[in-house]
Amino acid sequence: MENTPKTRLAPATTPAGTQKSPLAIEARELVKNYGTLQVLKGVSLAVREGGVVSLIGSSGSGKSTLLCCMNLLELPDRGDLSIADETIHFTRNAQGNNLGLDRRQIQRLRTKVTMVFQQFNLWPHLSVLGNVIEAPRRVRRLPKREAVALGEHYLDKVGMSDKRDEYPAFLSGGQQQRVAIARALAMEPRVLLFDEPTSALDPELVSEVLGVIRGLADEGRTMLLATHEMHFARDVSSQVVFLHHGIAEATGTPQQIFEHSDSERCRRFVSSVA
Ligand code: ADP
Ligand code: MG
Repeated sequence: MENTPKTRLAPATTPAGTQKSPLAIEARELVKNYGTLQVLKGVSLAVREGGVVSLIGSSGSGKSTLLCCMNLLELPDRGDLSIADETIHFTRNAQGNNLGLDRRQIQRLRTKVTMVFQQFNLWPHLSVLGNVIEAPRRVRRLPKREAVALGEHYLDKVGMSDKRDEYPAFLSGGQQQRVAIARALAMEPRVLLFDEPTSALDPELVSEVLGVIRGLADEGRTMLLATHEMHFARDVSSQVVFLHHGIAEATGTPQQIFEHSDSERCRRFVSSVA
């Protein structure tokens, strides 16, 4: 995997994602219900340009739902979501219909925030390169030659150039996930979301995927990452958010969250997974 940095590079500029950089994505008081089940109970969270925010918490705490709301795969019931300098305000009427949503705005914002899923979700009938250029071709409407050049660039970045004509079924889980990361990058989004990107992998394949994500963090990519890899979260994050039953129970630097959180629940969670 010649293109994956094995050691952490020095940050190019001032520490990424710290106080001064502008917000890339911000959720304010997001509420999401599935029927009578309240899954997000007013979650606020922000990622600055170049910042890496890790989302930790038990299974069922709402991490995936929050990520899906942040790229509008799911529409929140209430709250505000700002992506770069655009804000959508969510509210529902008594019949439960989402009010005032502009479909074209949602489509546009979706292209600015792309997600890497736990199960890779590659299209089985497309080659590796086909998977990576599909959205740039269809959504960004790039000419084929340009999309292929872009696809090759990002496959190179994740160390998968030599498999460009292979089909997903012939790849290991780690390789599939690296292709999925190249596919997300090829949309050239403002923000990358990762939903437990290594949870479906055999243990020996975890490090190659974390190596790619670490490389992206070192490059200053803006990322929000749900993960159970606590050492990794501690190492790459500018901020960590502990989600508990749909509430952002604790937010802080890795040191604050992992060493001396004010929240007893957070301390208990961290010690249970250490
Ligand atoms: P996590 O990713 O932290 O494990 P999830 O966001 O997947 O948590 O789930 C939070 C809660 O929402 C769980 O109780 C789950 O069963 C419920 N849930 C998630 N998606 C749906 C859905 N599409 N329909 C109904 N309930 C859902
Ligand atoms: Mg999940």
